[in-house]
Amino acid sequence: MSFAKPIRNSPRRGLPPYLYSGAVQLPRPKRLLALIGLVALLGFGLPACLDHFAAPSPLLGLRGDIALEPKARGWVRAFEDDLLGHPLIDVHAHLAGRGRDSDCWMSPRMENPLRPLDFFRGRIFSAAGLPDKDAPDVAWIDHLAQLSSAMPFAARHHVLPFDQRYDQQGRANPEGSDFFVPNDWALFAEERHPKQLVAAASIHPLRSDSLEELRRVAARGVRLVKWLPSAQGIELGDKRLLPFYAESARLGVWLLIHTGTEGAVGEIDQNHLNNPLLVRAALDGGAKVIVGHCAAGGLAQDLDDPSLPMVPAVHLFLRLLDERGGEGRLLGDISTICNVNHFAVALPAILSRPDLHGMLVNGSDWPLPAVGPLIMLWPLERAGFLDKGDREVLQGIFASNPLLFEVLLKSRVHLPESQLRLDPVVFRARPELGLE
Ligand SMILES: [Zn+2]
Repeated sequence: MSFAKPIRNSPRRGLPPYLYSGAVQLPRPKRLLALIGLVALLGFGLPACLDHFAAPSPLLGLRGDIALEPKARGWVRAFEDDLLGHPLIDVHAHLAGRGRDSDCWMSPRMENPLRPLDFFRGRIFSAAGLPDKDAPDVAWIDHLAQLSSAMPFAARHHVLPFDQRYDQQGRANPEGSDFFVPNDWALFAEERHPKQLVAAASIHPLRSDSLEELRRVAARGVRLVKWLPSAQGIELGDKRLLPFYAESARLGVWLLIHTGTEGAVGEIDQNHLNNPLLVRAALDGGAKVIVGHCAAGGLAQDLDDPSLPMVPAVHLFLRLLDERGGEGRLLGDISTICNVNHFAVALPAILSRPDLHGMLVNGSDWPLPAVGPLIMLWPLERAGFLDKGDREVLQGIFASNPLLFEVLLKSRVHLPESQLRLDPVVFRARPELGLE
């Protein structure tokens, strides 16, 4: 990236280049008009541009009759054989909504073009998860179930609600929350599509009714509670969380805890709360934990020796698996490991440890697989994780079903110069672990 040098001693100093780069300098009133035009273009044009950019999914996935080319059909057959009769499991599929027909909400920030970053994030999620931008919230649920049922094998997606941020006194902080999805919305999703969707929950542990809510959803069959510490304000080492850890263990409920850098939701300066080594506190408290994304994103402090420079968070996750994986209460979900900002570190780290693959479980992080630019195939091919020719086949699958694309991609990537892939156990439902 290059930046224009400031022009010194020029009457045009301080003006942006697009106002002086022409041969003729604009007279003052015209300059003013041009500025007004630019502001208007940004005001009206930005939302339109974002709608265009952030709308890869709406027309996709609607072709249930997807005609796979022969190579893709071969992959699907092999993948299905490896499932050994189990459905594909997905422990990480998000729900979101704007509240037109539900009690979900998004922060007004996410719909404000004057907050371009928040606006961009809001548009990306809505556009990827909804079949069209004016669709009701239930369309998100139906769209996911439709994509799933259009896959050539059975699949079960744990759909994740999202609790609000709470402060250290246990008071809800809606202003500090990006979005909210109540647990009942996930229960409704499961009732509506019981073959494809499984309700998960999200319960802030400092809520005054946290244990009560945990028991209520567990009685309805929920086996997974999702936390995103940096966005929800959860400190895993807080002693006040011990009763929640113990009760979740007693009820057989897994905690799905996001780890690694989070850029899509919440405050970036809170990322230290997502350090994978902090999960030790939950394990010490007796909880069963799925480490979200295998901590695939970003760097984290090595809490065992804070004098060391930051290290890839995924390396700390693997250290945790080496330490505690044998206890049978620790798993990692493999969502986003092929994403453009994660794969270079995450794939070699994970693929080169087949001894740990039995402790990994599939997650899609839906709707992110539908956001085209997040998974780029040519860098994967160039780095040797995909074979020549696979990219074109995968692109064809993406155009028809981004959910199928995402999982087949993860089944195809291998270590460069080797055929070492993810062990198929990663993709199977795991009834022995209470994850079906
Ligand atoms: Zn996620």
